[in-house]
Amino acid sequence: MNGSRLDDFLALSRAHPWELTPFSESLADGARAQVWDTGVLCIEPAVPGNRDLVLSCGIHGNETAPIELCERLLNAILSGRLTCRQRLLFIFGNPAAMNLGVREVEENLNRLFSGAHARGEKRNHERERAARLEQYVTRFFEARDGAERLHYDLHTAIRPSAYEKFAIYPFTHGAPYSRQQLAFLCSAGVETILLADGPTTTFSYFSAHGFGAHAFTVELGKVMPFGQNDARRFAAMERNLEQLISEPDWQPPALDLNQLRVFRVCQEITKQSEQFRFHFADTIANFSAFAAGTLLAEDGEQQWFAQEQQEAVVFPNAGVANGQRAALMVTTAELTTDMLA
Ligand SMILES: [Zn+2]
Repeated sequence: MNGSRLDDFLALSRAHPWELTPFSESLADGARAQVWDTGVLCIEPAVPGNRDLVLSCGIHGNETAPIELCERLLNAILSGRLTCRQRLLFIFGNPAAMNLGVREVEENLNRLFSGAHARGEKRNHERERAARLEQYVTRFFEARDGAERLHYDLHTAIRPSAYEKFAIYPFTHGAPYSRQQLAFLCSAGVETILLADGPTTTFSYFSAHGFGAHAFTVELGKVMPFGQNDARRFAAMERNLEQLISEPDWQPPALDLNQLRVFRVCQEITKQSEQFRFHFADTIANFSAFAAGTLLAEDGEQQWFAQEQQEAVVFPNAGVANGQRAALMVTTAELTTDMLA
């Protein structure tokens, strides 16, 4: 692999942050590694297993730990240390934002999927990127039928969290939740699950709804600068992904429902104007809880109160654009066996 352009894939992507001319190379084991665009690399094993796996990271450019994790997996595959036996699409979402060390350049990429990039008058690089990422995921999943489709969109949160790792289970439109996927997350150290209550414009919902993929937004901890993440804190996820990639028949240990902490969304707080403000400190940890009746936020005339006994806040961010979600409010929920398949 000496001298291969693939070895510099991430550096190349960062040097061409919005567009990279496609190229492909063969790996020693006969797999093809195809660069589709900046930050987008598809591995096609000579004889693929029955899972088609999308691994995305850096949808928010400053969320470095998942970028480092995916880079380690990719390097292990390119160097032959890890054999890729499943079709695999790596997506490093926003190289321009990575270069700047910011969450987004102009607009939050993870609110632009399922066609949201084309709504309204606004045009910017992130909107173009969302449209192209949709095409790549479509191309990847539609290349064949019958495989199990998976998409783990890896993030880190901008604030501390009472539960360090958690996953958002996109709205299933009434379909049962996957026991096997919950087992995968649980054994990857992601023991807190947040059940979405409706369609969204996130990347994971796009794959789940559009392609029947088991797809999740996975929060792996708090944002740190490049090089300052402790890989040991992500080791369980990394090991699970390695096994998923390299062992076609691998299954996670059976799910123990008692190990899971489950929440459901009970209300969303949407910022309307520059008058918007929270009634709690901006630095509050994710999953901090409030008693019913507590004033949470106000925006001019409008006020939001906690409605449930123990209502917890996730992703509070008063700095979002007007019209965007400033916080999710969640409450504990129960997953029973009749809700699983
Ligand atoms: Zn993120």
